[in-house]
Amino acid sequence: MLLSEIQIPVSRLTGAGEKTCQSLKKLKIITVSDLLSFYPRAWENRQVENTLGEFKSKYKIAVYLEVLGFDWFGFGKMKTLKIIVRDKNGQYAELVCFNRNFLKDNFPIGSKVFVYGHFEIKYGKLQSNNFEIEYEGKANKKILPVYSLTEGLSQKKIRSLVLQALKNYARGITSSLPKEICEQYKIPEKHQTLFFMHAPKSLDEVTIGTRAIIFEEFFLYQYALGLRSIAKRGRLPNEQVSATANNSKLTQKTYEEIQAKFLNSLCKMQKLLLDRLPFKLTCDQMTSIYECNFDLKKQNLISTLIQGDVGSGKTIVGFFVAVNIIEQGGQVAFLAPTELLAKQHAENAARLLEPLGVRLAFLTGNIKAKGRRQLLLALKEGDLDLVIGTHALFSKDIIYKNLKLAIIDEQHRFGVLQRQAIIQKGEESSPDKKSPHVIMMSATPIPRSLTLSIFGDMDVSLIKTKPLGRKPIITYVSKKTNVHKIYNFVKNEIIAGHQAYVVSPLIDEEGESELRSATEIFSNLKKFFPKFRLALLHSKIETEQQEKTMLSFKNGEIDILVATSIIEVGVDVPNATCIVIEQAERFGLAALHQLRGRVGRGEAQSYCFLVYGKNNANELTEKGVERLRILRDSNDGFEIAEKDLELRGPGDILGVAQSGYDLGFKLADPHRDFKILQEAMRAAFDLIRREKNISSL
Ligand code: ADP
Ligand code: MG
Repeated sequence: MLLSEIQIPVSRLTGAGEKTCQSLKKLKIITVSDLLSFYPRAWENRQVENTLGEFKSKYKIAVYLEVLGFDWFGFGKMKTLKIIVRDKNGQYAELVCFNRNFLKDNFPIGSKVFVYGHFEIKYGKLQSNNFEIEYEGKANKKILPVYSLTEGLSQKKIRSLVLQALKNYARGITSSLPKEICEQYKIPEKHQTLFFMHAPKSLDEVTIGTRAIIFEEFFLYQYALGLRSIAKRGRLPNEQVSATANNSKLTQKTYEEIQAKFLNSLCKMQKLLLDRLPFKLTCDQMTSIYECNFDLKKQNLISTLIQGDVGSGKTIVGFFVAVNIIEQGGQVAFLAPTELLAKQHAENAARLLEPLGVRLAFLTGNIKAKGRRQLLLALKEGDLDLVIGTHALFSKDIIYKNLKLAIIDEQHRFGVLQRQAIIQKGEESSPDKKSPHVIMMSATPIPRSLTLSIFGDMDVSLIKTKPLGRKPIITYVSKKTNVHKIYNFVKNEIIAGHQAYVVSPLIDEEGESELRSATEIFSNLKKFFPKFRLALLHSKIETEQQEKTMLSFKNGEIDILVATSIIEVGVDVPNATCIVIEQAERFGLAALHQLRGRVGRGEAQSYCFLVYGKNNANELTEKGVERLRILRDSNDGFEIAEKDLELRGPGDILGVAQSGYDLGFKLADPHRDFKILQEAMRAAFDLIRREKNISSL
C-alpha cells in the first residue's frame, strides 16, 4: 500500500481527542498518511552523554545528575522550586522549575536523574529553566524527532501519535518508486524510511531517510515532467546542454563538427540569412539553432529556454528559427518586455530579414487606431509573417492566422500568465489546437538547479561562448566619497570619444524617490561636466521622448546618459565604454550584471564602477561589499547567478517568484539538493525510456 492511500483519520489514534485533532488540522494533518508524512524539522540527539561543563548557549545537552537539595524563590503563588544538582565531575547547577514545583516530590534528594535541557549562566550560576528530567533508568536516550508545531500541541504529544501510527500502519507501506530504482539508487523500503525519519536509531538513519524522501519527491516530479514532455512534444527534455558547457577549450575538430551539423540542418532562408551576417556565429549559437532545426524536422514541438549572458547574441538565434517557421508558412510573434527593446529588435529584423522577403511589423500599445486596425487585419489574413512587440502581442483583439512560434525575450519580465497568453494565441490559431513552438530567452542566468525544476519540461540551451573580440569588462567597487575620481576617469573616456551611462538606484516601488535621485544625480553631474552633453532617462518621461533620447545616445549626440534601471535590458550602444552605478548595494547581483552588460559591446575596453553608500555615509557591511566584489571578480553571469542564489535564496532571483518556485516539496530543495535532483532526473527519464521504449536523442 502507498503511504498516500492510508486515509484513516488521525482521530482514530489513542490520545487524539477533539482539541488535538483541531490543532493537527491547522498543520494540515487529517489522516494518518498526513501525519506520517509530516517530517521532523530537526532531531535531538540524546545518545551522546555530556557533562555540565559542555553547555553551550544555543544547544541542549544530555547529562546524568544527582539531586543534592532544594531551594525556593518568590512568594505565595509565585513561589518556585529550584533543584540543586551535580554532575560526575562535581560541577553544580540549578534546575528552575517554573510551574513544576511537584518535581520536588518526584525526585527526592539522592535521586540519580537524566536531564536534557538548555543551560546558561545566570547571576553567576549555571541554570536551566528549560529541561526535561527523568529517572536515570527510565531515561529516553534516543534520537528524538522535533516537529514544527502549532499552539495546543506538544512535542511529546505528536511524538506519541506518530509512534502509534508507525506501529499500527507503517508495516504495509510500500514505496511509490519501482523496485529496481530503489535498488539501483539505494533507497530503503518506504516503511523503513518512515522509521528512519520519525524514530531513528542513529543519525545515519536520519541521513538515509532524508535522502530517500528527497529522492522520491524529485523523482515523482521529474517523472511527471518527462511524461508531459512526451505527450506535448514527442520526446524527453534535452539533457545535453551547451556544446561548450563542460569543456571550455573547444578543439578545432569539435568546432568543425558542430559547424557541419549546423550547416547541414539549415533551410533555404536560413542559408540566405547566414550569408547576410556581418559576423561568424559562435559555437553555442550554432548548437542552439541546430537543436531547434532538429526538432522542426522531426515535427517535435520546440520548447526551449535559451540562456545566455548579456551580449551573447541570443536575438539572432531567435531570428534563425523564425525564418525556418516562416519558410514553412507559419507566423512568428517576437515578444519583448519594453518598447525600447521591441523597437531595437524590429530594426534589426528589418535590416536582416526584410531583404529575405519576410513581411514584418512592429506592434506596441502605443500604435494608434488606424495603423493598428490595418496591422491586426494583416495578421489575421496571414499577410504578415513576423510581428515584433510588447505585451500588445497577446491582447484580446489580436487574432493570428497561423501563429506557430512564440519567442519570449527576457522571459523573466513576463509572468506565467502572460507567457501562457501568447501560447494560447497560437493554440487558437491552429486548426488542430496544437501548441505553438516556444523559445524563451533569458539574460539573467537561472541556476541549473532551478531550471531543472521550474523549466523541467523544457530544453535548456546555453550560450556561453562570447562573440569574438569582446574584452571582459573591468569592474571597480568604490565608496561614494571617492566618486569624483571615477568621474574624472569618465571625463577622459569621453574626451577620447566614448560615451557613458550613469545609473541611479531604484529606491522604492512608487518611483517617486527613484525619480528624485535620478534628477539629483543629473543636476550634480551637469555641474561636474559643464562641457558635455547630458541627458536624463526615466520611466516618467513620455515614451516618445525616451526613444528620442535613446536614439540620440545611439547616434553619439549625447555623451552621458543618466538613467534609472530602465536601461537594464536590450540597449545596444557599442561606443559606450563606462557605466557608473550609484548606490549599487541596492541592486541584486543579477540586475547589476545586466546593467553592466550595457557596456563591453564593442571592441574598446569597457569599465563598470559600482559605487556604494551616500554622500556622507559610507557604511556598508563587509558582507555587502563582499557581495559587490563577486561582480568585480567575475564576468560570468552563470557564476554570479549561482552566488546570488546562495546569498539570497531563490525567492529573490528575478522571475523565479512568478514561476512558482514553491513546487510543493516537503523536504526537497532543488538548490541545496542539486546532486539528488540530478540523480532522480536521470532515474526518472531512464524509466520513461524503458517504459516507452524510446532511445536517446
Ligand atoms: P543578447 O544575448 O544580450 O540579447 P544580442 O542578441 O542583443 O545579445 O546581441 C548583442 C550584439 O552582438 C548585437 O549587436 C549582435 O548583432 C551581436 N552579435 C550577435 N552574435 C554575434 C557573433 N556571433 N559575433 C559578433 N557579434 C555578434
Ligand atoms: Mg537580448
